[in-house]
Amino acid sequence: MSNSILLAPGPVQLHPEVQKILSLPMIHHRTPEFDLILKSALTNLKFVFQTEQPVFMLSSTGSGGMECLLVNVLNPSEKVLAIINGKFGERWADMAADHGAEVIRHQVEWGKPVAMTDLKKIFKDHPDIKIVLAQACETSTATVNPIQEMAAFIAQTEALFLVDGITALGAYHLPMDAWKIDGLVGGSQKAFMLPTGMSFVSFSEKAWKKIKTAQAKKFYFNIQNELAANQRGETLFSSNVPLIRALDYVLKRIKSHGLEAHFKHIARRANYTRSMAQSMKLELFSEAPSSSVTALKLPSQIEGVQFRNDLEKNYSVTVMGGQDQLKGKIIRLGHMGYITDQDLHQTSMRLSRCLSDYKFSINLNEIESKSKTLLEHSTQEGQI
Ligand SMILES: *Cc1c(COP(=O)(O)O)cnc(C)c1O
Repeated sequence: MSNSILLAPGPVQLHPEVQKILSLPMIHHRTPEFDLILKSALTNLKFVFQTEQPVFMLSSTGSGGMECLLVNVLNPSEKVLAIINGKFGERWADMAADHGAEVIRHQVEWGKPVAMTDLKKIFKDHPDIKIVLAQACETSTATVNPIQEMAAFIAQTEALFLVDGITALGAYHLPMDAWKIDGLVGGSQKAFMLPTGMSFVSFSEKAWKKIKTAQAKKFYFNIQNELAANQRGETLFSSNVPLIRALDYVLKRIKSHGLEAHFKHIARRANYTRSMAQSMKLELFSEAPSSSVTALKLPSQIEGVQFRNDLEKNYSVTVMGGQDQLKGKIIRLGHMGYITDQDLHQTSMRLSRCLSDYKFSINLNEIESKSKTLLEHSTQEGQI
C-alpha cells in the first residue's frame, strides 16, 4: 500500500527536518552549545504563548503540564470549578480532586461549548471559587470553549483561570496576556509538532502572587525551583536535549512565518476537511468546531470502530475514533503537525473509498476533482 498517513489529533506527523534533528548525536545538557539552544527555545516559547511571563518546559506529557499548573496555585480543600466538555475535562477534574480540592464539576453536553450564562450563574452560587479549569479545545469532541469571554469574566473575580491549550496553543490564536489567562499549557505531540514527551506552561502575574503561598504538594513540578534553574540557564532536572533541539527549530519556523500565517495554514486544513466531508455527506459533530481537529459523525449504518480499523489496515490512514459515549460514532482528523497537500488529498480519496467499501454511496470522481480544486485555489503560505 502507498504511504501511511497519520492524521490523529496527536501524535502528529513530524517535519522532515525535525526527524533529522532528532537523529543527531547526543550532546550533554550542560554545554555552551546546548545553553544557547535552551535560551533560544525558552525565549521563543513566549512568542507562541503571546506572553511577557516566563514559559517553562517540562519533560512530561501534556497531563503533567496540567498537573503542574494546578499544584502550583492550589491550596487543598479550595473550591475548583472544572468545566467538563469531554475526556480531558474529566481528567483535570479528577486531578484536582486527587490533590484535595473541592471540585464543582460542570458537565457540558459533549460537542457543545460551555455557556457564559452558566459560568456566571455558578459563580453567583459559589462566589468562593478559587480556580477554574477548562480546555481551550476539548480534543475528544473537537470543540472549542469561549476562552476569551471566560477569561474576561474570571479576571474580575479572585479566581485563577487555568487553560488546557494542548490542541490549541500553537494551532490558533490564544494570546495568554491579552486575554488574561492565568495558567496555560501546551503539549509537544500536538500543536508543537514534535514527538510525545514535553509540555510547556506559563503563569500570569495574578497566578505568581498565589504561587508563593500555595500549599498543594509538589516536588518535580515545583515551578519556583524551575524558575530559579531557568534563571541560571538550566532546566531543574536533566534537559530533554533531542526534543528541545527540535522545539527550537519548530519555534524558529513558526516565528519566521508569523503566528497569523501559521494559524491560517492550519485553519486551511480544517476548512478543506469540512468542505470535503460535506461532499462525503459526513456531518460535523461539534457545535463549536476547532481548527486544530475535526470530528465527523459517521452514518448510523456504519460501525465506527471497525470502520476506523479498516481505514488504517486497508488504506494506511490513521485517524482517531470517539471515546466513551462517542465510541464508534465519530472519527477525528487532526490538522496539526506536518501535513502536505498530498496527504490531505490522499486522505479524502482513501476515506471515500473506505466509505464505498461500506456500501455508502459516494462519487469518487467528484471527490477527486473537488479536492484538487480546493487545494489549488488556496495558498500554502504558512506551511511549516
Ligand atoms: C492530548 C491532550 C492532553 C494530554 O495528553 P498527554 O497524553 O498527557 O500528552 C490534555 N488535554 C488535551 C486537550 C489533549 O488533547
